Formats: sequence, structure tokens, C-alpha cells
Amino acid sequence: MVKVGILALQGALEEHENALKKAAEKINKEIEIVFVKRKEQIENIDAIVLPGGESTSMRSIGRKLGIFDPLKEKIKSGMPVLGTCAGTILLSSKVKRKKEGPATDGVIGLLKATVIRNGYGRQKESFETDLKINKLNVNIKGVFIRAPIIEKIEDDIEILAKVDNDPVLVEQRNILAATFHPELSGSTAIHEYFLNKI
Ligand code: GLN
Repeated sequence: MVKVGILALQGALEEHENALKKAAEKINKEIEIVFVKRKEQIENIDAIVLPGGESTSMRSIGRKLGIFDPLKEKIKSGMPVLGTCAGTILLSSKVKRKKEGPATDGVIGLLKATVIRNGYGRQKESFETDLKINKLNVNIKGVFIRAPIIEKIEDDIEILAKVDNDPVLVEQRNILAATFHPELSGSTAIHEYFLNKI
């Protein structure tokens, strides 16, 4: 039995819970889901999902609770993490509010990437598009909701899916990060792949 956390400071939690349960069943893995709201819980989990939502709210709540330091240490030591949308913003080393603007340091900052928050701007604020993920051998529906754009990544990061020329799903060892919402794709492929990393 492995314990899979979902960071539960704010944001879309239930869909991840459902996707994780379904994925675990498919790959025959026994999991227990833990909604992580306190820093003491970090010690006891084997993997964590950082959900979508509002990265600025998560940042201020999480900082008050002192949750990011132990989380960062645990991810550094190899714990698998799946970041989606706002979760990916928390993971990234550099964050911009707009393309031309200055970059600030990300909250967890372990994913060597620069992201632009709400990168698709107003016209294309939210959209759906088909994503081909060769490594997982699937095509899934990519649901983008006020999504960030990954503007720059370091060489050792693998790109698993792209939209136009922008990476939308990337992997840096134990870190898997999507700018879209895999929990809303109707497919559990990404959650299965994540659980297999534990
Ligand atoms: N726009 C949000 C942010 O900047 C992310 C949106 C999402 O997670 N769906 O934090």
C-alpha cells in the first residue's frame, strides 16, 4: 500500500482523487489517498499531486502553513510529483506574469522551467485540444483552463506532449508537470504513468 497525497490547500481535488483511484485499479496498485493540509503529513506520503487552482492562493496559504520547505526536500530526495496547471507553476524555477515581464522565483522551484502564468491570454483563456503522448502511447483530450505556457526548459527535461510549439507535459526525473488538466481528460493514462513512478 502506498500513500498518495493531494495537496489540499485550494483548487480542484475531487477529480484527481477519482482519477487516481481509477488509475490505481487499472494498474493493480493499492493506494491510500491523503489530502495534505499540514506539513506533518508530508513525511508519511510516497507521492503527491499538486492540483490546478490559483497558484497565488496556494502560495500564500502554503507559506503560512510552512508546507513548502518539507515538500521541496521530499521532492528533491526523489518523491514522485504530478503538477497540473497551478501545480506546475508552483514547481517551476521561474515564473512570469507576462511574456515581456520580469521572472520571479517559483515557490518550490525544482522544475527547471520558466512559465508564464495565464500564458494563453484572453482570447484563448480556456480551450480543449487533442494531445498525442507518444511515450504513453495515447491520445487524450487536453483541457486548458487559464493555463500557463512553459516558455523555456533546461535540456535534461523530456517533453512528452506539445501544443503548437510549446511543451504542455514535461518530465524531469521524478517530476511530471502538465499545463493542462489530465484529471479532466476522461483518460487515466497520465495518473497511471505517475503511479508507476512510485
Ligand atoms: N491561472 C492559474 C494560476 O495562475 C492556473 C489555472 C489552473 O490551475 N487551472 O495559478
